[in-house]
Amino acid sequence: MQIVLSIAGFDPSGGAGVLADIKTFAAFGSFGVAAITSLTAQNTCGVYGAYHQTAAVVRAQLAPLLADFQIAAVKIGMLPTRATVETVAEIIAQHRLPNVVVDPVLCSSSGYDLIDHAALEALRSCLLPLARLVTPNLAEAARLAGMKVNDLPSMQQAARHIYDLCQRQTHDAGAPCAVLIKGGHLLHEATDVLNEGGKVQIFRAPKLATRHTHGTGCTLSSALAALLAGGASVPEAVAGAKEYLNAALRSAPLLGHGAGPLNHLPSVSW
Ligand code: PLP
Repeated sequence: MQIVLSIAGFDPSGGAGVLADIKTFAAFGSFGVAAITSLTAQNTCGVYGAYHQTAAVVRAQLAPLLADFQIAAVKIGMLPTRATVETVAEIIAQHRLPNVVVDPVLCSSSGYDLIDHAALEALRSCLLPLARLVTPNLAEAARLAGMKVNDLPSMQQAARHIYDLCQRQTHDAGAPCAVLIKGGHLLHEATDVLNEGGKVQIFRAPKLATRHTHGTGCTLSSALAALLAGGASVPEAVAGAKEYLNAALRSAPLLGHGAGPLNHLPSVSW
């Protein structure tokens, strides 16, 4: 069984963050382990607080895991401060962790800022160069690339910019880095743009009419990490993760009074 590590925030409502990540890893037959970067207070209606862990606490959680387990992939979500980004980057480089999927979480869908400006800068300079795959949504791509991103041509241009930020020696010998810009917030379709090693591929999907979308970004990046851990290529992982996300959205359990969670185990009957 492959072990996949999530380094992310804790959402007590189970829709996003490490709880969503662990359920998603399980859906792909991987064993999930996690280090928590921030304890948030939230439900399906909004985020009410975030109690960031220090970089030392994040390091203290990671050290025993890395001493004991062979990690096949890493999903990185909310890294709220510069110190935490730098610590995580240092540990990834030191342990040469493979298949690093970075979901550059900046803000919740309800508008709550989950990381600060200095953390974003550190993410750009220290963490992107260690990633196998980076998965920004339109707003995150705009912040990372420093341009407006609102249609297919601007998604392709931003993917190229972010790909240039990632250009470096990946730990997976010879594997190129890749950027997946998620178009879930486009008006009429959920079309994603993948730039892998400079080669562009478009993944088209119809937009589902649902308000139950809490944690879609966390869930997609975790599915990608689990598929890469199992040996999928990046395009295969993107196709498989999108198919899984679609099933998880279609069978969402309709919980809560706001943007409800997905069904992270769509193949299990409830
Ligand atoms: N809470 C945590 C801990 C997260 O990591 C994220 C996103 O990645 C969110 C909340 C936001 O989820 P959403 O944008 O679906 O509200």
